Amino acid sequence: MSRALAYALIAALGNLLGAFAVTRHAARGLKLIEHFVAFGAGFMLAVAIVGILPEAFGRSGGAAPALVLAGYLAVHLTQHTVTPHFHFGEETHAVNAVAGRSALVGLLLHTFFDGVAIASAFLVRPALGVMVFIAIFLHKLPEGVTISSLMIAGGRTVGQAMGGAALLGGATIAGVLLTDYAGFLVRHGLALSAGVTLYVGASNLVPEFQGKTGWKLPAAFFAGAGVFFVTKALLDGLS
Ligand SMILES: [Zn+2]
Ligand SMILES: [Zn+2]
Repeated sequence: MSRALAYALIAALGNLLGAFAVTRHAARGLKLIEHFVAFGAGFMLAVAIVGILPEAFGRSGGAAPALVLAGYLAVHLTQHTVTPHFHFGEETHAVNAVAGRSALVGLLLHTFFDGVAIASAFLVRPALGVMVFIAIFLHKLPEGVTISSLMIAGGRTVGQAMGGAALLGGATIAGVLLTDYAGFLVRHGLALSAGVTLYVGASNLVPEFQGKTGWKLPAAFFAGAGVFFVTKALLDGLS
């Protein structure tokens, strides 16, 4: 098994863990995961801008800017245009059954690119792969919370909610597997996933806490960006 695949499996487990917290009504766990959103947003934005973008421009050359934009727009199309109701975080209001199913379909493209991002970052160098994995793992827990709570709010069973989270994890694993075989993704997967990662960090995760008061969530956000640089220095020093 490749290293990228092993990390993608752990990331996929994060989806299940988030869903598990919802189905178990683990209030403390859910509160912790809320802080994961803010910390993960900071870490993810730093990885996308400082770690992924320069490498994506190196690999894709002149095509890179348009591919980054395409990745960003594709997430908006699947998650927020053809989908009637979607936002990150635990679902707290009533939704219909269609909302759960369409959000699941909408999230599949994004979670597929979670896997493409891990695999193509490992193709650049292992240290970048590990940093992209951390960024993705941090938001996999809230991703599992999001889909399972949305499905339960839409009248699905606990089993179906767990199944939804498992599908998202499966899409991430598929993203890793396909990147190893599809020439286009080997070359341009990093640029596309840079756009996807920017969207998830800046347009999915940040809006989840930017309206909330208090200092803890902003502190977690800035800490996430800061910890990226510490992680980068450590990993670069090791390799
Ligand atoms: Zn909602
Ligand atoms: Zn994701």
